[in-house]
Amino acid sequence: MSHLLIIGASDAGISAALRAREVDPALEVTVLAADEYPNYSICGLPFYVSGEVPDWQDLAHRTTEDLERTGMRLLLRHVARSIDPAARTVVAVDGEGRERRLAYDRLVVATGAESATSDIAGLDLPGVFTLRFMEEGLVLRQHIEAHGPAEVVIVGGGYIGMEMADALTRRGLAVTLIEHGASVLKTVDPDFGGVLGGELERHDVRVITGMDVQAVQAREGRLVVRGDRGFTKADMVLVATGVRPATALARAAGVATGVHGALRVDRHMATNVPHVYAAGDCVETWHRLLERPVYLPLGTTAHKQGRVAGENGAGGEGTYAGTLGTQVVKVFGIVVARTGLRDEEARAGGFDPLTVEWTAWDHKAYYPGARELRLRVTGDRGSGRLLGAQLMGLHGSEVAKRVDVFATALFHGMTVEALNDLDLSYTPPLSSPWDPVQMAAQAWQRAAREAA
Ligand SMILES: Cc1cc2nc3c(=O)[nH]c(=O)nc-3n(C[C@H](O)[C@H](O)[C@H](O)COP(=O)(O)OP(=O)(O)OC[C@H]3O[C@@H](n4cnc5c(N)ncnc54)[C@H](O)[C@@H]3O)c2cc1C
Repeated sequence: MSHLLIIGASDAGISAALRAREVDPALEVTVLAADEYPNYSICGLPFYVSGEVPDWQDLAHRTTEDLERTGMRLLLRHVARSIDPAARTVVAVDGEGRERRLAYDRLVVATGAESATSDIAGLDLPGVFTLRFMEEGLVLRQHIEAHGPAEVVIVGGGYIGMEMADALTRRGLAVTLIEHGASVLKTVDPDFGGVLGGELERHDVRVITGMDVQAVQAREGRLVVRGDRGFTKADMVLVATGVRPATALARAAGVATGVHGALRVDRHMATNVPHVYAAGDCVETWHRLLERPVYLPLGTTAHKQGRVAGENGAGGEGTYAGTLGTQVVKVFGIVVARTGLRDEEARAGGFDPLTVEWTAWDHKAYYPGARELRLRVTGDRGSGRLLGAQLMGLHGSEVAKRVDVFATALFHGMTVEALNDLDLSYTPPLSSPWDPVQMAAQAWQRAAREAA
């Protein structure tokens, strides 16, 4: 019987295992999990820390029993230490330090990513945390419950930093967020980032932008966070400065790396090493619009790439369709989303972009509770092709649904004009006969005509 071995039991690894068992129910599938939390939603950790999800076990996408019922074998607390591609074996060490050698016919590397903490000194001090793994989320909440810190500094204004500013405020902590850029959430345009920064401040989060944090120090029972523009004191520090792909194991076995040091894979998620596939946050990702690999670590992508790797690991011929970088985040009452390319990204990608913003009511203004939505559409001046969209609105104004309309249009290479032909749903409490997506498309067309 053929054996598929998978290293890593999070989004990509488990997606690979599930798909492989689906494609070939006779295939023997083994998944190595470094920890005891296979198939948990680490994306849910901010909501566990906040208390909105009271029980960590609710973060499981599936229970261990659910997974084993599909026929896969899970080896928990097994860390893969080396891969021998010539012998097609992997050496793993279990929780008791025992070594075992596992043979494979095909291998999927799904080792994910780890926190990138750059060169900030003092991260090993008690009270300093990163948030990447289930264990880290559990320890963070235990720390808050046991020690009752009053003030926290979050280093990093990306989506995790902001979700955690929201979560820790809900927990009753006074939050300071330090971001080295000029605005938070640099993945959207700066004025959207500015509005988000304002939303944080409205909830009493102190936002410091333009400061590079260099060290955390312990002083008189507290922590001091030092940056290039001063210092601030806290009882607790969370460093959320991004991730880097976890590639050491695969690199040592000869797997080549590409963008951002991530493992290089083709569209079938195959590496350069025979019989070895890779997927998720450890790999570079094909960008559907740019038609080149990028590094864009997201749960959505990890699931899809894992599914392709699992299909091919089971002898299939799956192809990864590519990312558009679609993302959405909720910070207190505001939801911000993006898909595709922003103006400068499109220009750098060889397009001739025009970006137009339009503000619309999320539903008919005469029906109570209408809220303003901001939609920013980027299209190519020459071809009229849709290149990207950014949206911002209040929670409940269907920002995610609308960014997904743009994402679907982008996926199919539609023009901005063609958005008007989409048969989108309408009832006054939820939308308008022309959905805001289409109003924004029409605004883009008018501006493109004027600019021509
Ligand atoms: C707080 C937080 C919030 C997030 N929110 C979102 C969101 O809202 N939307 C979104 O799309 N994405 C989100 N993400 C990102 C998303 O969680 C990741 O992109 C996704 O989990 C990546 O899955 P993965 O399987 O590739 O890697 P990982 O989840 O990193 O898993 C890799 C696993 O491999 C294990 N492993 C590593 N090395 C070995 C080894 N040698 N042997 C055995 N096991 C090993 C690790 O222990 C780990 O469990 C969030 C991430 C975090 C941390």
